[in-house]
Amino acid sequence: MIPKASYDVIVVGAGPAGSTAALYAARNGASVLLLDKKREIGSPIQCAGFLPDASEVKALLPDAELPETLKNYPDSCVLQHIKTQRIIPPNCNTKEFAVRGTVLDRRRYDQFLAEQAATAGAELMVKTRVTKVEGTTVEASGIFGKHTIKAKAIIGADGPNSLVAKSKGLSWKPESKETSVAIEYQVRNVDIDPDALEMYFGKDYVPGGYAWIFPEGEGRANVGIGIRSGMAEKGVSAKEYLHRFMQDHPLAAPKLKNAIIMNVIAGIIPVNGAPAKTATEDSLIVGDAAGHIIATNGGGIPPAMIAGKIAGETAAEFAAGNCRLEEYDRRWRAQFGPALETSVQARQIMDGVMKSDALMNAAFKFISPEQMKVMQCGKLPGPVKLGLHALSRGKK
Ligand SMILES: Cc1cc2nc3c(=O)[nH]c(=O)nc-3n(C[C@H](O)[C@H](O)[C@H](O)COP(=O)(O)OP(=O)(O)OC[C@H]3O[C@@H](n4cnc5c(N)ncnc54)[C@H](O)[C@@H]3O)c2cc1C
Repeated sequence: MIPKASYDVIVVGAGPAGSTAALYAARNGASVLLLDKKREIGSPIQCAGFLPDASEVKALLPDAELPETLKNYPDSCVLQHIKTQRIIPPNCNTKEFAVRGTVLDRRRYDQFLAEQAATAGAELMVKTRVTKVEGTTVEASGIFGKHTIKAKAIIGADGPNSLVAKSKGLSWKPESKETSVAIEYQVRNVDIDPDALEMYFGKDYVPGGYAWIFPEGEGRANVGIGIRSGMAEKGVSAKEYLHRFMQDHPLAAPKLKNAIIMNVIAGIIPVNGAPAKTATEDSLIVGDAAGHIIATNGGGIPPAMIAGKIAGETAAEFAAGNCRLEEYDRRWRAQFGPALETSVQARQIMDGVMKSDALMNAAFKFISPEQMKVMQCGKLPGPVKLGLHALSRGKK
């Protein structure tokens, strides 16, 4: 495929953020080029694939307008429906609450999203890496050759190490960037509850984060950990923590003892929210590139897609000469900015509590399952906030 010399909108990255942005830009009349460096959209996967149902997302982010593709997607993208979420503190006094959602086949879901964008009119180029962004010109190179392409607006949906963000001065300074390092295995032959998500806490297994078992149907699961490297023991890698969790955790190990590892997945999760600015006069960033992640649970698919819709709509309006591109920044913050910020605050408070298993056990004891659900989605009920503050200052 040979791209045209110029487009209204170039979208870099065809993950959930980029494909959603491309879909809504094309739907709103813009000419759109969607580029991804991957040979196959969605592969390799870098996700555990949990997507809460639209009703859960609405409860968490009531002011957000959800894209159609977050509410409705083909059954073929679903590996497992989820009904329950369990939180397991270090002392294993488990709490659980009801949750509606699915564990997605991210490869299929990302392909579905890119196909929706292309069907709406966006031109899709796979295995094409954007190597330079200067002004409104993009240099791209890959299976279809080398190209220099112009656009009225550039959308950086290129993940946590976004080239667009760096080129446009929109990224966090490296010293203030906070990330969680995640490693996970897709495994078979495990003895788990088929419709429950499980999240395990404890500094010996997952310093500053949590381990998870997400069912993928038919005795399969995604088992992983996300840790904050600054809080880990010196010299112990994320992979070693994951093995320790799978082999030694008193509740998890018996379920996983016959696990056959079929796939290894690793990635980073930005956990300090969005930078001060996410748009310039000709470019914007969205999804992981913009820190659109609920910092307490690492859930990035819903915010990436909600912001993707706003990005696409705003870019199309801008290309038609009807608004400034910076309007995007105000629009997404109006829909879920406060929720994102609260999730970062909740994560920072939890960092203090997570330094000690005793503090964590005490915290999990006084938080009810309902409060836990609200909290792991990034909200902080007043009494919980006060209690956690007191705990993290050592007042048990
Ligand atoms: C291990 C792990 C588990 C996770 N589990 C969950 C979960 O269960 N639920 C959840 O909601 N979130 C989860 N997340 C977070 C979630 O995966 C991300 O928040 C989400 O994928 C963000 O979407 P995105 O489109 O912004 O970025 P991505 O999905 O990362 O897409 C970015 C795209 O940009 C492309 N790209 C990058 N640079 C270039 C370039 N220079 N040129 C061309 N293309 C480029 C990449 O190939 C990629 O396809 C997890 C993350 C990790 C790492």
